Amino acid sequence: MTVQASADVVIVGGGIEGAAIAWALTRKGVCNVLVLERATIGSGGTGRSSGIIHCHYGVRSLAVMAWHGVQLFTHATEILGVADGVGFEQVGHLVGVGPGDAAALAANVAAAAAVGIDTRLADPAEVAELWPTADLADFAAFAYEPRGGYGDAYRTCHAYLAAARQGGVRVRQGASVTRILTSGSGGRAGGDGRAIGVELADGSRIAAGTVVLAAGVWSAGLAAGVGVDLPLRAQREQILLVAPGAPIKNVPVLSDLVGLQYVRPERSGELLVGNSDHSRPQWVDPDAYPGTADPQYVEHAVGRFAHRFPGLPEVALSSSYAGCYDVTPDYNPIISATPVDGLFVAAGFSGHGFKISVAVGELVADLVVDGDSSHPLIPAADFRLSRFAENAPLVSPHPYAGAGQMR
Ligand SMILES: Cc1cc2nc3c(=O)[nH]c(=O)nc-3n(C[C@H](O)[C@H](O)[C@H](O)COP(=O)(O)OP(=O)(O)OC[C@H]3O[C@@H](n4cnc5c(N)ncnc54)[C@H](O)[C@@H]3O)c2cc1C
Repeated sequence: MTVQASADVVIVGGGIEGAAIAWALTRKGVCNVLVLERATIGSGGTGRSSGIIHCHYGVRSLAVMAWHGVQLFTHATEILGVADGVGFEQVGHLVGVGPGDAAALAANVAAAAAVGIDTRLADPAEVAELWPTADLADFAAFAYEPRGGYGDAYRTCHAYLAAARQGGVRVRQGASVTRILTSGSGGRAGGDGRAIGVELADGSRIAAGTVVLAAGVWSAGLAAGVGVDLPLRAQREQILLVAPGAPIKNVPVLSDLVGLQYVRPERSGELLVGNSDHSRPQWVDPDAYPGTADPQYVEHAVGRFAHRFPGLPEVALSSSYAGCYDVTPDYNPIISATPVDGLFVAAGFSGHGFKISVAVGELVADLVVDGDSSHPLIPAADFRLSRFAENAPLVSPHPYAGAGQMR
């Protein structure tokens, strides 16, 4: 093949995962790394993220990964060398559940606390002080993480890449990868050998000993070209920004697992309202879907919001937008080697890829350099691609009745 450039590692996708992987590779001494982004950095799911940060996962490895995120976001100025952090607002994070989920909540909190995560149960009186405008009557139990909150995925993505560039990583935007090249195929796609590089839309080729697919839901098409099946679908999610009609100060993020809605403050004084009801997912083409909320959805979401916050009668919709989760069958990511030697994948983050991104980067760097995770509480096997073919999904030991997919 005619090669126009080369790198030790090519990363396809300049979202937060590709950026975190690039930075992590440099910290393991792998610096000849090229990130290829078809559009602009952070223009995929990353730029649409609600940015919520918490460690409330039943799957222990995910909770630990999110806890690594909390450390990173808290100390971003020193760790990433950015002047004023990455936009982390440590307002705390609350989860509220109904009676049927109280036991699962207690079990999840105990499991997280056992691995050193700063979380505990909270009583209704404490929650009423934290969120005075909320009607808490239909909640049976709460978990509270004082070190949770929300951040800025776009800003964090750029900070990871700035640190990666310091380590020698190169980034090309407007560089769309059209196929993965493998040996044993004369460089054509579809060979069964090992990954040897990628081809771009302009026909140019880049040789690489390792290719990491971090292209979100678009990873599936590229993997299919070399015979690797990634079970990924794009699930549209609609986000509302509402003006509460009254000053709302210093409230924590509220994950309402009764109303299946999450609410967090914005610096503007508005509230960001998202959906946690995944019982009827809206599967879409990630390149062609409505970019703002549907009127029926707004009506439904506003109804749920009004139920939770009856003391805010003057609520007005400021704006809305939509994005896509890259969803796997078990709503947990694929962070894995593949049947093609030298080809790795980090995709399928199913709506929680921001908070765990720093640990994703480290796990991929471990897999590329050492072939296994260096962290005993983050077993690489949890996120292996083969779990789907083995019918062994990664699931929480303590799922919630109404929100099983996401916890
Ligand atoms: C509405 C919404 C709310 C969310 N809220 C939260 C939250 O509160 N907390 C949380 O932790 N997570 C949240 N997430 C999830 C989180 O934002 C994502 O998991 C994360 O941003 C995914 O990052 P990524 O790098 O895998 O994918 P992306 O950001 O989608 O990046 C993939 C990149 O690959 C590029 N690409 C695609 N094809 C090619 C190609 N052929 N060649 C080159 N480049 C290519 C794309 O242009 C894109 O920039 C949310 C996501 C959405 C959509």
